[in-house]
Amino acid sequence: MQAKELRGQSVAENIAEEVKKHVAEMKQKGLQPTLSMIRVGDRIEDMAYERSAQRRMELCGICAQSEVLKSDVTTEQLIRVIKQNNEAKNVNGILLFQPLPAHIDMEAVKEAIDPVKDVDCNNPLSSARMYLDDEEALIPATPGAVMEILKHYDIALEGTNVAVLGRSMIVGKPLAMMLLNQNATVTMCHSKTKNLAKICQEADVIVSCIGKPKFITEEYVTPESVVIDVGINLDKNNKLCGDVDYARVAPVVRAITPVPGGVGSVTTSVLAQNLLKAFHMQNR
Ligand code: NAP
Repeated sequence: MQAKELRGQSVAENIAEEVKKHVAEMKQKGLQPTLSMIRVGDRIEDMAYERSAQRRMELCGICAQSEVLKSDVTTEQLIRVIKQNNEAKNVNGILLFQPLPAHIDMEAVKEAIDPVKDVDCNNPLSSARMYLDDEEALIPATPGAVMEILKHYDIALEGTNVAVLGRSMIVGKPLAMMLLNQNATVTMCHSKTKNLAKICQEADVIVSCIGKPKFITEEYVTPESVVIDVGINLDKNNKLCGDVDYARVAPVVRAITPVPGGVGSVTTSVLAQNLLKAFHMQNR
């Protein structure tokens, strides 16, 4: 039996519809929620994400403006641009595309983003709020998208065992904390984890964020597994694929997200949700 496919599109549309309603109310009061996107250089991935964020914001009635800096920009110059956006009354959220060029002091740049406008959760203070389960926390978009998919498809978390594969600061670690905040029992796995297949088999939900094409095969799952694939990779034929070998795993699990069309398609809606939240925090 083929597993239930947990597609991202309806999740993204539901979130966006809700945001759009609230934005329309703000507009009636003469207020315009606005996102400022800062891109350094011309990385194809950044430009693709910028286009898709722009589209999503437009659909929600949010104004999105882009600022593009040369790839040899200095840390000081970049921080100056961030501070201008921190101070701009008409900017409610700041999205900085990453990774930045190697010469940039990433930590200094992250700390420069005002936490109240930090819609992609870069400042350590924003992370602390998320770890504390503060209801005003602006959550990072990708782990946020995973949580929204689980909620939309009524996948219970309380008391369940969840294996998170990958411990990066942008996906694995924040996601583990968000799952823990929902009372899941979380096992964090990484490249040094032993018996990974066994840990995955014992989990109710497996979330893979390791960046290895088609790494998760049928040996890692059971018929009860819910598999969330965060990976965005290229396979041997240069075709987009996840961390999970979909063709082998989908027929033998309970539910699975596809790649593309899964987690990645929900992130810009979570970003719009964060922008609206930031807007309300700045206008109360
Ligand atoms: P990353 O910084 O490279 O981290 C990868 C993590 O996976 C590390 O913690 C690493 O362990 C772990 N890992 C690597 N090989 C492993 C193995 N064989 N077994 C268990 N763990 C292993 O990557 P990332 O930035 O978190 O991104 C991960 C994937 O998500 C990538 O494919 C990326 O493109 C994708 N992504 C998707 C979205 C989206 O919107 N869908 C957003 C962001 C990223 P160590 O810590 O021990 O090295």
